[in-house]
Parts: sequence; C-alpha cells; structure tokens
Amino acid sequence: DTADTVAKPATNGKTKHHKPKQDHRALAHRLRGQRESLPIFTARNAIIQQVRQHPTVIVVGETGSGKTTQIPQYLLESGFGTTAITQPRRVAATSIAKRVAEEVGTPLGGRVGYTIRFEDCSSDKTQLRFCTDGLLLREILSDPLLRRYEVVILDEAHERTLRTDILLGMLKDIQRERKRVAELNQQVPDAYFEEEEVSYRDHRSHGTHVTFDEPEEEPVQPEAVPSVIDNVHGDVTGIGELKIIVMSATLDAERFSAYFDSAPILYVAGRQFPVTTYYTTTPQADYLDAAHLTALQIHTETPSTSGDILVFLSGQEDIENVEKLLRDSAASFPPGVPALLPCPIFAALPQSQQSQVFDPAPEFTRKIILATNIAETSLTIPGIRHVVDSGVHKVRGFDPRVGESLLVEPISKSSARQRTGRAGREAAGFCYRLYTESDYAQLAEDSIPEIKRCQLSMVVLQLKAAGVTDVMQFDFMDRPSKKALKHALLELYALDALDDRGELTALGRWMSEFPLEPSYSKVIYASQKAGCTREAIDIVSLLSVDSLFYVPADKREESNAAQAVFRSTEGDHLTFLNLLRAYNKVNGDREWCQEHFVNRRNMKHVLDVRLQLNRLCARLELDTERSCGTDLDAVLKCFLSGFFHNCALLQPDGTYRSLNGSQAVHVHPGSSMFAKKTPAIFYDQLVFTNKLHARAVSAVDPMWIAQASPKLYGRLNTTA
Ligand code: ADP
Ligand code: MG
Repeated sequence: DTADTVAKPATNGKTKHHKPKQDHRALAHRLRGQRESLPIFTARNAIIQQVRQHPTVIVVGETGSGKTTQIPQYLLESGFGTTAITQPRRVAATSIAKRVAEEVGTPLGGRVGYTIRFEDCSSDKTQLRFCTDGLLLREILSDPLLRRYEVVILDEAHERTLRTDILLGMLKDIQRERKRVAELNQQVPDAYFEEEEVSYRDHRSHGTHVTFDEPEEEPVQPEAVPSVIDNVHGDVTGIGELKIIVMSATLDAERFSAYFDSAPILYVAGRQFPVTTYYTTTPQADYLDAAHLTALQIHTETPSTSGDILVFLSGQEDIENVEKLLRDSAASFPPGVPALLPCPIFAALPQSQQSQVFDPAPEFTRKIILATNIAETSLTIPGIRHVVDSGVHKVRGFDPRVGESLLVEPISKSSARQRTGRAGREAAGFCYRLYTESDYAQLAEDSIPEIKRCQLSMVVLQLKAAGVTDVMQFDFMDRPSKKALKHALLELYALDALDDRGELTALGRWMSEFPLEPSYSKVIYASQKAGCTREAIDIVSLLSVDSLFYVPADKREESNAAQAVFRSTEGDHLTFLNLLRAYNKVNGDREWCQEHFVNRRNMKHVLDVRLQLNRLCARLELDTERSCGTDLDAVLKCFLSGFFHNCALLQPDGTYRSLNGSQAVHVHPGSSMFAKKTPAIFYDQLVFTNKLHARAVSAVDPMWIAQASPKLYGRLNTTA
C-alpha cells in the first residue's frame, strides 16, 4: 500500500535519530546543572517524603517550576516503580517525554517513553510513561487495577478536561480497591502457613479425630466499601497500593485535596519576573488580523535579541491563517529587518514538526510561536519575552437539542493571567492583550470544567466497559447534569451499545475497544456487513483532522477551483475519500498538495490514524480490505448508522432544521454542500461561530435515516 509507506509513524522516525549511548549520557550530564537550578529542586526531599507517607499528594507550582519534568525523575531516583504521567494533550505528552529522556540520559522509548492515541513509543523497560489522560482511561479497560503502575501522576489537573475528571474518579476507586487487595496480600503468608499446618496435621493424624482450634480473632474482613469496579479477576498477588499525585498550576487546590480525603498540598515556589500588560483601546473586530499586526509591530519595533514572541490563538485553523499572514508580510520586509520564523504548536501537530518550537532560532531570526492554550501551562517554551493574547480559546459545548458543537469563546481571567505569565519566566516581559481592559474585567474567574459542558457518550461507554454499572452514582468531582448523562445513555442505547436495561451489549464492548467517539466505531462496525470497511476507515481517518484543505482568504476562488476535481455530488464524506485516493496516487507529492490547496500536514496525520485503525481492526479480526468499489451509497448508509442523530431536513423555506431538536443548521461555507438544497443531510460536527455551522456534510435519502435508527426514528417509516 503506497499510502502506508508515506505515513511514517513517529516511532519509526525515532530510529533515524538514534544516537550512540554516550551521547545520551553526555547530554544528560550537561542538563544536570539546569535541573538543579529549578525552583522545585529544593523541594525534592520533601516531595518524596510526602509521597511515601500519603496515598495521594497534591502539588501546586507555577508553570516552569519543574513539576512535570522533575517529579517523575525524583520518583525514579528514589526507587519508586513504574509511573504514568498523564497530560491532557498529545503534544505535551510527546515533547515532555522527549525532554525527560534527554535529562535522564536514555533513548526515548527506553526507560522514559510515551503512549498516546495511535502512537506508542514505550517498551517493557519504560518506567516513566507519559501519556494522554484519554489513553490511561483506555488502559483501565484492559488493566482494571492499573497494576503495572505504582504511581499515577495526573498533571495539569487545573484544566479540568473531561478525561481528567473521569480519571480522578476512576483513580480514586482504583486506589481504594488496591489498598484492599494489598491488605489481603499482607495476609497471604499467614494463609500459606495455615495450609501447611493443616496438611501436616492431616498427615499425622490420619484416621484419628482432629479438632481445629477456632481462630481467636475474627479474620480481618476487607473494609466494605462499595466498589464501582466489579470486573477484577485473576491473580492479585503482588499488587501494592497506588500512589496518586495530582499536579496543578493554579492555586485553587483545596478541592482536589478535599476530594482525596484531605490529601496534603505542597506548594512549590515559582520564579516570576514582572510583566507589563497592555490592553487595546477599542475592541478588535478581527482578532486574527490584530494578532498578526501586533506580532509584526513587536518584531519591527523591538530588537530581535529582546526575546521571542508567543501568540495565543484558538485552534489549528487560526494558527495556520496567522502563519500564512506572517509569512506573506515577511516576504516583503525591507532590508535590515531581521527574519521571522513562525512556529505553530497545537495538539495535533506531528512530532516531527514539534522540535522547532523548542530549538533556538537561527541567527538574526526571531521565532514567533503560534500556539493554542497548550502553551498556557503544559509546555515550557524557552526564550519568550513577548506574549500576544487573542483572548479566545476553543471549547466544546453541548446542547441536547443540537448535540455537541465547537465554540470559540472568551477565556477566563485565570487563563489570561497564565498567558501573561509566560512572558516573564526568564526576564521582565510584555503582554499585549487584544481586548480592552473593561472586557477583561467581565471575563469569568475560571473556566467551567469540561465535564459540565460536553457530550458524554464516549466516557459513559468507557465507564460502562470498565465495570461502572451505575454511572449516575459515579463519584464525580463535579457532577455533570443529569440531563447530559441521560442523553449519553440514550444515545448509547440508540447506537445499540447499551441494552434496554442500560447494560453494555456485546457491540458496546466491541465499540469500547476503539479510541473513537462511539458514532465512529459504530460506522466501522456497520461497514463489515455492508462490505465497505476500507472506505469507512478511510473516511473516519479523514474526519480526524480539523481541515483537509487550505482556504486562503485571498485565494478562495482559486482554491475552490483547484479542489473541484475531488468534489462528489453526494457531499463531503465522499469528496474527502476522493481526495485521499488522489493523494495516494501521487504519493503525497508536496507540489501537488500546494496546487490543490491540500493541507499536507493534516493528510499525514490522516494516514497515521488510518494505519493505526487498520491495525486495531486487524487485531479485532475485521477484514479491512473489504471495499464496496463504486457502490458508495453503502458507505453513506454506514455513516448514518452512527450519525443518525446528526441529521437535518430541508424545510419549505429552504433552510435545514436538525431532526432531533429543530434547530436551524447552516451548511459550512467550506462544504461541498454549501448552497445546495437536498431533502436531508447528515453532518460530522457542528461549529458555532455566529451561527450553527455543520461541517463535513453529505446528502442522504430521508428513508435511510429511518432505517439507520428504527429505535429513534421508527415513526418516519410511515410519514416519509
Ligand atoms: P512545570 O511542569 O512546573 O510547568 P516543567 O517541568 O515543564 O515545569 O519545566 C521545567 C523547566 O524545564 C522549564 O522551566 C524549562 O527551563 C525546562 N524545560 C522543560 N521543557 C523543556 C524543553 N523542551 N526544552 C528546554 N527546556 C525545557
Ligand atoms: Mg507541567
């Protein structure tokens, strides 16, 4: 398969950079001084001591103080067993693992490694494993007591991502269960002893009457705590207690402490230089433009030796837009202006392109780092003195009437302060907020935890698969609304992942194997019967990235025309499939991608995802080569079996209304279905900008919708 040869997973890449052992040691030796000058170093012994004494410890420390990179190493050096360190984002997990491997002086994937969705760079030898919080959740499915870890570090807990919150609850339970098992294990020697005694007496007293003494004390009964985990089987010998460390960059750690039975909180002093903060005098209509111009202003008005610039934007699309604007401006710099190097960093950035963010810029060049809130607290990027804060971030929002959507929203004050802080880590710095001071005053103090605002079907499926029978009773730190939980249960029921008693079905268990939203795993499941697994996997992979095309604002017509060759009359899903086929034919050729305005970076990611999905399906004994050839309706029907809740019907007035909540749904201008009228559509996702926009839209026959989910839309059979 030519495509797979194009897709080089980063794990393959690493062998290319393999260096002899001495180099690793020499580098670690050089980094030692840096390690010992970090603020956290003086707290080393205190931290280790607290972790020894308490099952759970909360560590709070300013970004850059050394929590993420140092504490795992302190554990390693103090003889603790295997440790998992979770991060909310892939890029953080991979780049921090790389840094820690350097500091430890081992090749990445050896003693220090990482595992993220669709990518594993670890081995049996790995003692410090950096992973995403989602990945550790998945590990619980196959290893309910996480027995391979002695310590789990939940990093960036202040972010309160959906998966961090679920992990908090699961870990609390696992910790309790492991304590119980560990106490039972303590009794094991006694049990052996008694057994020997019995056989001894039996032997000696063969044929005679033997009386056994009643034990004087009642055997210690394990504490009767109701456990939500009911699928722990097998050998439990050798399981010790689980240590949990919760790390946060903001001061409000009392809630974590209270949640973990008054766990001690350790405060690590930070180092922060003063930062001068500027606001705009008037609100900015276009923050992308404002960000671009502000960055240019800083670049041209301050010497390039005065430090790099960090720009906070909402997501990959924003970042790529500003990157392009900056490159265009830089192309026409008058002589004498130093070069600028835009460096994007966002969650889905391939490993191979991450390092330029951390590497020093070439001489006479200034780095302008374009980041999402990943650079707020999880990554430490050296050399930053200027911060430009757009004041927005992308969040998931959920409304049972329309399902989940992505929204670009104002950040919280707490985020704004973190962003500002990034300018003053190494020296006094400057922060330019692209909003007015009175707008700042109106920001919320903190962001709402994600669990309260997003769709829960995937985590509910995971909880069910991990043996949590009653998710309504789960010990959430912040309880999601009953409505949202019920909606998730209902959706899983409609997908046939749960039966009418709310119990996991065989299909539900199968679906939980996939690191995908349940809708997608349902599509893959349906594709077996329909004989189009290859196409289903292709399209699911294509949908895993934000955008497949570049649509430069000034070249909209041109890019539209270039992309017409891929366009399918049935909509975006098949258009994307055409794109992938064409891309594979030319082997991902760079010029071809430029000519067709194809986002090559994202296409590479698509191929990675596809490779991993193919592997997973092969493991589950699915025939991934089954293709439906030209009968592409079959593919769309498979998608409907997972996306029947993302449908909209054409109204007499020419607008679309969502089938489940009668909300107005507008087709995204970037879609091949834009401005087309068809009786019914389904979509991959809703994005809220000024109105609800459906992205990745395809036309379907309304009858197919009814057939796809008789449970929900059975009525349509008679009315359609
Ligand atoms: P925290 O988790 O407390 O925010 P980290 O452990 O991530 O802090 O970072 C501690 C220090 O390690 C940083 O201040 C920086 O000096 C250094 N550091 C971390 N990652 C890198 C990197 N990729 N390149 C260079 N230095 C780094
Ligand atoms: Mg950190």
